[in-house]
Amino acid sequence: MADAFASGGCLCGEVTFTAAAPPIVMSQCHCTDCQRVSGGGHLSVARFKRDDIAIKGQPKTHAIRADSGNVITRHFCPTCGSRLFSETTGRPGIIGVMAGAFDDNSWFQPEMIIFKRSQPLWDITTCDVPGYQTLPPPI
Ligand SMILES: [Zn+2]
Ligand SMILES: [Zn+2]
Repeated sequence: MADAFASGGCLCGEVTFTAAAPPIVMSQCHCTDCQRVSGGGHLSVARFKRDDIAIKGQPKTHAIRADSGNVITRHFCPTCGSRLFSETTGRPGIIGVMAGAFDDNSWFQPEMIIFKRSQPLWDITTCDVPGYQTLPPPI
């Protein structure tokens, strides 16, 4: 574990994980699905190579087709309900990890804010990073 970049887990400790390497991209998403699953104004997500994340425990999953047509599978603890991971058919081999699920998340720094079109006025964002009404243009 000493080699891991970071570790984390759910609120009750049933599901834990380690990240072997730093994330590829970090973002803050205000889409209405993220608001619904978070119960807040956005989700803060760090995306890693799937191979870099080792999961202990058995998260429950829920899959839904997004507006983009991609199927997004969200993983959460079956006991305490903490949001943990997300995967999309649009980005195979990549896993999103909720920033708040890490034991220490001080390294998290969103590089972009996405789905600003549905950002609630009360969900105040102070970070000065590029924002997109929906998704950023493909690279
Ligand atoms: Zn739990
Ligand atoms: Zn979202």
